[in-house]
Parts: sequence; structure tokens; C-alpha cells
Amino acid sequence: MQSTTENKKTPYASSRNACKLCAPLGASVVFKGIEGCVPMIHGSQGCATYIRRYMISHYKEPVDIASSNFSETTTIYGGNRNFIEGINNVIRQYSPQVIGIATTCLAETIGEDVNALVAEYKQANEENPLLPVFIHASTPSYQGSHMDGFHEAVYAAVATLADKNTKSGAHINLFPGFVSPADLRNLKEMLTVSGIEYVLLPDYSASLDNPFWKDYHLVPEGGTPLNHIRMTGGARASIEFGTILNKGALTGRIRKTKTITTAGEWLEEHCDVPNHRMRMPIGIDATDHFIETIETISGKKITEKYKLQRGRLVDSYIDGHKYVFGKKAIVIGDEDMVSGLVSFLSEIGIIPVIVASGGESGLLKEEIEAVVEDPSHIQVMNGADFESIREVIQETKPDLLIGSSKGYYIARELGIPLIRVGFPIHDRVGGPRMEHLFYSGAQQLFDRIVNALLEYKQEHSPIGYKYM
Ligand code: SF4
Repeated sequence: MQSTTENKKTPYASSRNACKLCAPLGASVVFKGIEGCVPMIHGSQGCATYIRRYMISHYKEPVDIASSNFSETTTIYGGNRNFIEGINNVIRQYSPQVIGIATTCLAETIGEDVNALVAEYKQANEENPLLPVFIHASTPSYQGSHMDGFHEAVYAAVATLADKNTKSGAHINLFPGFVSPADLRNLKEMLTVSGIEYVLLPDYSASLDNPFWKDYHLVPEGGTPLNHIRMTGGARASIEFGTILNKGALTGRIRKTKTITTAGEWLEEHCDVPNHRMRMPIGIDATDHFIETIETISGKKITEKYKLQRGRLVDSYIDGHKYVFGKKAIVIGDEDMVSGLVSFLSEIGIIPVIVASGGESGLLKEEIEAVVEDPSHIQVMNGADFESIREVIQETKPDLLIGSSKGYYIARELGIPLIRVGFPIHDRVGGPRMEHLFYSGAQQLFDRIVNALLEYKQEHSPIGYKYM
């Protein structure tokens, strides 16, 4: 079997329009998916502002993120005083159940020992009845992307709270990764109507996609309850969506000291909860695998509704295949998301010619080779930035680009459709309502892709046509 080619980067001094986001941003999304949690960025205020800016633009919701607001003095003498003042302010203003702390590049560089700061704070305030739970995710962006921050925060929540003595053996832990609120709602509905007990972490399906409020809610409703996170230690099994997760930290350019990096692994090691890891369930093949796995673990069948969804999806593949078969796509995004998308594209006959991610795991090429029959035509770019993608893209003559809004200027330059997926979607409404997972997500993606290609054809037809 011929293998994919791996892009060798031409040397240049810096990233140009990075194809990844900052690690505390990923952690903040997780913290917004924990009930009663207020995220606090330990570091400079600009970092919190950038994160809020991105999240507000995508989710179209108010997003409160506190900051310990480092200054020049803090950088030299340490952030102890700012940390205490920041925590006091957050408790006074929000009365949170949880404060999720993510450290910035600067706090990590000067070696802030957040665990010690938390321990000192708790000791000094042990009489305070409003003392929240603290979860700390170590998130230096120079050692990873938003995805590393995301998985680190899920890991930190579980490692802080999971209790082996809550053993009920009835429920399944689900760690879905960085997907949309709509994907989370679909997952919860599928399990609920099928009578399968679960703990979902994180769950920002409501907190980052609120109904209309008349009055401002300082801490939005929704999120995984704390007692559910404690119960992860007594689950029947865990399921993690994604095969790369933050494992790249062990195998790629970046090295971490710990060998266990995900929540599922931690629970397997400390609480004897078996961990099942699988590709993102995008498309029929990966969704079938998820459903088979969950049926086997739970001993329950997923309801008929989903078989009908699958049937309709197959029918639509038959109806639409002539419009997509043989088309060439560029796929850009998080490593696990692009690997899931490539698997889906392969089943509908679209040829991915460039698969690029800002993730630096070094594992992406192997993952792509595992999901396509003939990987010889695919150029895989790990640790890519948008300029390096742009430089190699022209010669591939793609028909469409699949990725976040950040791919817009490349799609515009090439004059091809951009199918917006993942995060961030800055230039459209509905990012939180976009589906990617399961049969319904594949249906949405398929319809959007076919219609974008048809629209392109209509617009570029010299005569125009009304019927397909
Ligand atoms: S300095 Fe680091 S933590 Fe702050 S916004 Fe930039 S990448 Fe994120």
C-alpha cells in the first residue's frame, strides 16, 4: 500500500495565521460545561479577553471568564496576591459551585504552582460556607493547542472529583470531545430515549446555547452536575470520542511527564472503569461502531428511530452520490475532527487531497491511513498554519474546503465552497446548532456538501438550470 505524503514544512521564523487556538480556550469550554462553574484564567487579562471574544463570536452567548490580571509586578514576584483577589471577587460576584482555573503561557513560564495556591487559599478560608470546588488545568499554549487544553480540563475534573465508592455499575461515562451543543443534545437524547444511563462530561449543550433570557444570568443553567462527575468513578465503562485526543503530547514534538493524559485512562487506572476509545462517530461506519459498542456495554438497544435515520441517510447517499463522487476536498481542523471527517468523506466518494491540522501529535498521518482505502493521494499536514496550507493548495485543484470560518479566505481565493464545521464559526449564525455526529449529523453534512456543490455548478453554468 502506498502511503500518504507528509508535508515537510519550509523553514520560516514563526507561525503565520495559526491553524489552532489557545490551550486555556479549550479548558474554558470544558469549564462552561460543568454546572455552576466559572472559568478563571490565571494570567494576563488579554488572554481572557481573546478567549471570550472567540467564544462569544461562535456561540453568540454572553461568556463570563474571570482573570487574575497579571501585571509587570506579578510577572516578577509571582501571582499569589492576584490569585487570592481574583478568587475572592469571583466568589463574591458569582457564588459559583466550582472555579475552573486554566493557566496561561505567562503563568506557566514563571512556574506558578496553582495547586499550592489553591491549597493555601482553602486552608485560609476553610470556615467560608461558600468555598467552591477548585479544578485546575495546566494549559501552557506553547505546549499544545485548544484540544490539549480541552482534554486536560476533562482529565483535571475527573482526577479532582471522581469517587470510586460511588459504584453503581449502571451508567456509562461519555467523554465526547470538542463537539457542538447540538451534537451533545443529540447524544443525550439518543441515550435517554433508549433507557441508557450515562454521565456526559462536559455538557455545555445548554450553558453555551441558552434560550432567550429577560434578565442576565451570571452563571448560565446547565452543565454536568458535580455529583455526576463524582459518579464517573463508579461507572460500568467509559467511552472517549477521538483517537488522538491529547496523546500527541506523548508522541509528538511536545513531551509531557505523565503517561496517563485522558479522563478515560485515569478512571481505568484509578477506579477500574474500562475505557473504550473510538474515532469521532461522523458518518455511517463510525456511528455503527459507536452504537454497537454502547449496546454491548449497556445491554440495551438503541431505539428504532435511529435505524430509520440510518436508512434515510443511506437513501440520501444513493440520491446524491453522482454530485459528490470523485470531488476533491481540503479538510482542515482539529486532528480528531479531521480524521472523523475523512472517514465520512471516504464513504460518500469524496477524495480528500489535503488533510491539515494545527495539532502537532505526529499521529494524524497514521490515523488517516487507517480510515481510507487508498491514502496515496492524500497530503497530511500536521502542525500546519493557514499560510503553509495556502501555499500547497493551488496545485491540488480542490472542489471544496471543509473547515472552520478561518478557512474562508483560502476558499474565497480559490473560488470554491467552504463547508463550515467545528469551531470557530465567526461568519455565520448557527455554529452551536451545527451537527456533525451520528446519522443525523452525517445527514446534515451530506446535504450541506451536495447543495454547496450544486449551487457552485449553477452559479458557474453559462445557461443555468432549474432541475437536477
Ligand atoms: S499568551 Fe498563551 S494563553 Fe494567552 S492568549 Fe496567547 S496563547 Fe493563549
